[in-house]
Amino acid sequence: MLKPKQCIEQVRDYHAPVEGPQPELRLDLNESTTGCSPRVLAKIRSMSAKKLALYPPREPGEKLVADFLGLAPEQLMLSNGADEGIDLLERAYVETGDEVLFSVPGFPMYEIFGRSAGGTVVKVPAGDDYSFPLSRMLESITRKTRVIVICNPNNPTGIAVQKSAILQLLQAAPDAAVLVDEAYFEFYGESMLDQVGKIPNLFLARTFSKAYGLAGVRLGVLCGPGEQIRAIRKIASPFNVNGIALECLEEALADKEFVTSYVSQVKKTRAWLIEQLEALGFKCWPSHANFVLCRIGENKKAVLSGLRARGIGLRDRPDCEGCVRITIGTQAEMERVITEIQQVTGKRPAERVAR
Ligand code: PMP
Repeated sequence: MLKPKQCIEQVRDYHAPVEGPQPELRLDLNESTTGCSPRVLAKIRSMSAKKLALYPPREPGEKLVADFLGLAPEQLMLSNGADEGIDLLERAYVETGDEVLFSVPGFPMYEIFGRSAGGTVVKVPAGDDYSFPLSRMLESITRKTRVIVICNPNNPTGIAVQKSAILQLLQAAPDAAVLVDEAYFEFYGESMLDQVGKIPNLFLARTFSKAYGLAGVRLGVLCGPGEQIRAIRKIASPFNVNGIALECLEEALADKEFVTSYVSQVKKTRAWLIEQLEALGFKCWPSHANFVLCRIGENKKAVLSGLRARGIGLRDRPDCEGCVRITIGTQAEMERVITEIQQVTGKRPAERVAR
């Protein structure tokens, strides 16, 4: 019988919650519920049949993003979502048996891409309260470590990693590609961008899926030293980024005000949501992203299904005991979430429980 490569047999099935009937309010994938800039939408609508018939060149888009980020075009490549950038990076550096290191709870694709590249996955458990396990990460570096991924801020906890911790890892593993996944950068504001090209093993991944509200067009950026990006380009399709995504780019970058105002709404609403959830007695982790990790406790399954029946999808995080991850939507959407949680649990704000 035909068999896929052995390493693929070890890759677990991953199902994003986009299959099957969808809740009316999807708060389980950290998408923007606001959508993209109207300028981007107008640009897409203006596309001609002729343009859609052409293979899209990536280069002009890469020049735009390079200018926006203050990098040279050869220090980045556009990707089909940040996902593809992570995949390409792991494929470029991991040989069979090499180690891919990251902390857990974390983003599941690091493992899937690492294993499919033939790598061995080393998952380092987070510290108390899901803090970044710097010393355990440092201790886990071996001669075989070829990729280290640091998700900053981390999904699903929203916790940020200090620059000094990232720098220590970069120094401790000079033969490993260290990828800082900054998918949620806009909600946090701190970045390693100013070090790209200066530190020879530093890579950065960014995405247009979150703050730009463009998850559906699939557009990401992988940044790193020019000579390394040149190697990674060799294994990517020349047309990995679709023409609609490339068409959007200029307007998406130009409409700074749209992103700024969306990000500030999310931050405000995030603080409000955390306060409300805590008033109901649920522990929340301080988040630097567009989602919040919340410990519902034993009642979690009932809360998830109760909200689902009321048209709201939250993300179960079985890797964080008793927790769900809630995407921050508009203020009105979050008010609805709080009302429905109160309905399902019977809790009222006055009922503070000991933590
Ligand atoms: N990294 C992290 C930490 C993410 O949470 C996600 C998406 N949820 C991605 C990367 C991938 O994003 P994209 O849509 O750009 O592929």
